[in-house]
Amino acid sequence: MKKPILSLLTFFAASSLSITSCQTPPEVNQEDVTRIITTLASDEMEGRMIFTPGIEKASQFIQEEFKKAGLEYLEGMDSYNQQFNIYSITPGNAIISVDGKVVEPQNFLTMSSAESLEWPELEGVTVHTVAASDNFQSKYGEISRMSGKNLVLVDPAHKDFFGRVKNFTLRANRATEVNNNDATVMVLTNNTAIKSLNVKIENTVKAQSLSNVTGKITGNRENEIVLFGAHYDHLGIREGMEGDNLFNGANDDASGTTAVITLAKYFAAMGKKPERTIVFVAFTAEESGGYGSRHFSEQLNPDEIVAMFNIEMIGKGAKEGPNTAWITGFEKSSFGKLLQEAVEGTEYTFYPDPYPTQNLFYRSDNATLARLGVPAHSISTTQIDIDQDYHKASDEVSTLDMAHMTNTIKAIAKAAERMISGEQTPTRVDPSGLR
Ligand SMILES: [Zn+2]
Repeated sequence: MKKPILSLLTFFAASSLSITSCQTPPEVNQEDVTRIITTLASDEMEGRMIFTPGIEKASQFIQEEFKKAGLEYLEGMDSYNQQFNIYSITPGNAIISVDGKVVEPQNFLTMSSAESLEWPELEGVTVHTVAASDNFQSKYGEISRMSGKNLVLVDPAHKDFFGRVKNFTLRANRATEVNNNDATVMVLTNNTAIKSLNVKIENTVKAQSLSNVTGKITGNRENEIVLFGAHYDHLGIREGMEGDNLFNGANDDASGTTAVITLAKYFAAMGKKPERTIVFVAFTAEESGGYGSRHFSEQLNPDEIVAMFNIEMIGKGAKEGPNTAWITGFEKSSFGKLLQEAVEGTEYTFYPDPYPTQNLFYRSDNATLARLGVPAHSISTTQIDIDQDYHKASDEVSTLDMAHMTNTIKAIAKAAERMISGEQTPTRVDPSGLR
């Protein structure tokens, strides 16, 4: 809750500060905000679906804007383009033999990103069992995340669920790397004392290129990073759909991407080296598995990121009225509290995510960084429970409120000031408390 008297005092304190400061602060300009979001959400960008020319155009545009801002490249890079591959895996032939006998196809399944893999013996393979009395469904999550060479012997009591998993693994899926040694092989059998094993797996593996767009302003404390991010990908064009089938993704998340670009310009225009390094990233593939934020988080030391502002869907007014935004995972670090304090005395307010049952903290790129301990939260203003345009072709610029968006970007800039100056550092997120 805001306290009017305190707010007024803070206001006077703030204004006297700006009188004594000698530099005119840069402006967040509504015209430029409108130009950027209109470009990103234009039909020319074809809904910014991964692996399409439309998202390439969007990437080019963001890179040009980062250049205009004068951002530096991230360390070790020679452009703003953070390119990486993911792999589409289409299952091919697999032959599994246990104790010298070939297992019937309906009684085994493989989880592997190998182009070609061969295990001639049981040695080196870890054997797990799922007994008839075990809850296979609840064990499955853990099993699917195992690394190394694994054989899982599943009691035939779980035949039905096994069949469902098998069908799932037979479809093409994606992996972040090709691994020609490791796999998880599951066999439906009541033999839990097997003596020999032979595995041959072949998949068709196709590399596909993805790119984040990244840039930075190096601070005096080079290795303390304040991160601003938003995803620039969206859902593209839906073939076979009647009427408008181009999903422009204006609110989701051209609005957040616009904020990231605008903040880059704003902080670069300060004209002096910030105390902390500021990194800006437009993530790819948020809508298709979160591969962009995953790759990004592996390119730097997450311990160096002191805070992450993930900006999602800020084009429409929030539930609590104009000039408000909400923060996901409010209780997971002191990030939200610091933001609230930072804008006290202004006309803007931050408050906790009003839709806790929607699990929004886990539904965007911030979660990837939060699982590494980073105080990484999404800031949004959209009434997700009643919004008519969310993940619809109607998510167009005409439905957005540019003045509100501009005010929100200004509030985020203000809220980040003392984190960038090094005066404030949010507490870390405890990854053990996360899903
Ligand atoms: Zn989104």
